[in-house]
Amino acid sequence: PPALVVDNLRKVYRNGVEALKGVSLTVQPGDFFALLGPNGAGKSTLIGILSSLVNASSGDARVFGRSVARERSEAMRLIGLVPQEINFNQFEKPFDICVNEAGFYGIPRKLAAERAEKYLKELRLWDKAFHQAREMSGGMKRRLMIARAMMNEPRLLILDEPTAGVDIEIRRSMWHFVSAINAAGTTVILTTHYLEEAESLCRNIAIIDHGTIIENTSMKRLLATL
Ligand code: ADP
Ligand code: ADP
Repeated sequence: PPALVVDNLRKVYRNGVEALKGVSLTVQPGDFFALLGPNGAGKSTLIGILSSLVNASSGDARVFGRSVARERSEAMRLIGLVPQEINFNQFEKPFDICVNEAGFYGIPRKLAAERAEKYLKELRLWDKAFHQAREMSGGMKRRLMIARAMMNEPRLLILDEPTAGVDIEIRRSMWHFVSAINAAGTTVILTTHYLEEAESLCRNIAIIDHGTIIENTSMKRLLATL
């Protein structure tokens, strides 16, 4: 099955805002996919539905064939989410942050410790693994959220505007590691409101505006039409 099928997804918030007006798109396994759109377009709402933080009003999404509405826990296991804002406890240690995340997925302690070591090393955070997270630089904190999202070895890694408010050096280092994760076989979706950010990284792109997909094509074709 595709990594992601979004099928006529609608979301109306309680205040009446129609954030998604029948969104459909498909992401193939192994892709590095961009969801591009201005602020307020509906990106976070879509990511929220995929990661079970938001309930859709109608429509469904399937992650490697698993419905987020009907097979929520199976779908959740296949997804790793890197949120927009740093949301770990800064007084905890990166190693514990990763191991605790694994615990949430029911991963046995020994395997969790092995994975934490593996991903903290891959993301060049191992020398900070046993210090409080607040001692790390902004870029390291971002990478820690990627390491944490990898703990259940997701087949689909979703990054929600991961570089908002982040400087160029930090962005480069994040993309270096995310590209390596993608090269190793993990499907990656990132949301952004900068085409420049998506164009060098992503193979395929969907553009969302006012809750509607207005373009869905390969990056090559999109750039050729500009
Ligand atoms: P983006 O991530 O592309 O900036 P969002 O999905 O955050 O877009 O927002 C889409 C629309 O839904 C916007 O008009 C926003 O104000 C509205 N919205 C987002 N979250 C909520 C919420 N919890 N309650 C009501 N309206 C919301
Ligand atoms: P927001 O609307 O989310 O507040 P901003 O316009 O404040 O976004 O920019 C967020 C961050 O993105 C800033 O640190 C800015 O330096 C950076 N940024 C600016 N231009 C680009 C670009 N072309 N690609 C990626 N990041 C950029």
